[in-house]
Amino acid sequence: MRDDTVVAYLDGNSLGRPLVASVDRVSEFMTAQWGGRLIRGWSGGAVGEEGWLDLGQRIGDDLGRVVLGAAPGQTTIGDSTTVLLYKLVRAAVELRPGRTELVIDRDNFPTDRYVLEGIAAERGLTVRWVETDAAAGVTAEALAEHLSLSTALVVLSHVSYRSGFLADVHALTTLTHDAGALIVWDLCHSAGVVATELDACGVDFAVGCTYKYLNGGPGSPAFAYVRAEHLADFRQPIQGWLGSARPFEMGQGYEPAKGIRRLLSGTPPVIGMLAMRDMIALIESVGIDAVRAKSVALTEHAIALVDALLPDAGLASPRDPARRGSHITIDHDGFEAVMPELWRRGIIPDFRRPNGIRLGLSPLSTSFAEVSLGVAAIAELVAVTPAA
Ligand SMILES: *Cc1c(COP(=O)(O)O)cnc(C)c1O
Repeated sequence: MRDDTVVAYLDGNSLGRPLVASVDRVSEFMTAQWGGRLIRGWSGGAVGEEGWLDLGQRIGDDLGRVVLGAAPGQTTIGDSTTVLLYKLVRAAVELRPGRTELVIDRDNFPTDRYVLEGIAAERGLTVRWVETDAAAGVTAEALAEHLSLSTALVVLSHVSYRSGFLADVHALTTLTHDAGALIVWDLCHSAGVVATELDACGVDFAVGCTYKYLNGGPGSPAFAYVRAEHLADFRQPIQGWLGSARPFEMGQGYEPAKGIRRLLSGTPPVIGMLAMRDMIALIESVGIDAVRAKSVALTEHAIALVDALLPDAGLASPRDPARRGSHITIDHDGFEAVMPELWRRGIIPDFRRPNGIRLGLSPLSTSFAEVSLGVAAIAELVAVTPAA
C-alpha cells in the first residue's frame, strides 16, 4: 500500500509496508473470525476452519518451507525477537553444561548483546567479544580465535544490522560445531530477502523479526527455529501453560509439550500474526531466489549512485554483493543535518549514529526509481546544508 506523501521509502528493513491483501485479511478476521467464532475460534472449527491456538506453528512451517530451509515442526511464531532469543540462549546454555563462555560480536544488534550479558550474569558465564571491522562482519578467522572447549554458545547475525554484511552460515556453524559448541543465528535482517538452509547447514537455533522484510506490521511477533534433534532435551525458562504437554487439563507440575510448542509460554498474539501470511505467500509465489536477485540489483544500483553522486561519503557496507544483505550504510558527517528535510520531502531512509544513513531496500516493494530519487535528494541536500 502506498501513501502519496512518501516518494521514496528506504526503510523497509525497519518496518515493511503493509500489503493490500493484509488489509482484507485483518478485517475479515475481526468480523468473521473473532466476531463470528468468538471463543470457539481457538480450536479448529467444522468445515476446515483453522484453529487459532496452533496458528504460530502453522505459519512457522510455511516460513520454514518458503524462506528458512526448515522442515516442518521446528519453527514457531511467538514473542518478540528479544524474548525468543532469551529463551533460546537460556535453553542452549543448559545443553552444554560445564562450558562457561558465550561468544558474540561487538557490532551485533544491541538486544542480542544485552540478552547475552544478562544471561552471562545470571548463570555465571563469560562473554567473549569478537571485534569486527565496522564495514564488514564476522569471518571464520575472527570467530576461530574465540572458540575453545569452554565455548557453550555462539550468537551471530546473518546480516549485520548496520553494515549489511552477510555472514557465511554454513562455514561459521561448522566451525562452532567443531569446537563442540552450539550456535544461535539472528535472522532479523535476512529473513525474507536472503534464503537460509537451516536444516542443511546444521544450524541449532535461529530467531528473527517478522515486521522487517516479512511485512508483519509494527510489533508483529518473531519466529524461532529449534533443530529437531534438540527438541527432546530443549528446556526454556518461561514455563507457561501453553507450552505444557496438556494445557487444558490444568494439572499440577509442568511437563513440556512434545515438539516446538514447548517454546511457547502464554496465549499467542493471533492478530499480530495475520499480515505476515500474505508476505510469505507472495515470496512463495515469486520464489526467494527472484527476491534475492532483485535485492542484489537494488543494492548494486544504490552503490553506483552513491559512488557517482556522493563521492565524499564512505560506503560502510561490503562491495561484494555475495557478502551483502538488502541494505547499505553510507557515512558522512553532513547526514544528520539533512534528515529532517529528507523526511519532510517524503524521502525516508534511516539514520544510524554517529553519521550513517542506512538505505533498506525491500525487493518486493522498493523500486529502482525510488532509490535513484532518494540518493539524488541526499546528495543535493548534503551539498547545500551546513553540518549540524
Ligand atoms: C530488529 C532487530 C531485533 C529486534 O528485536 P525485537 O525484540 O523484535 O525488538 C533484534 N535483532 C536484530 C539483529 C535486529 O535487526
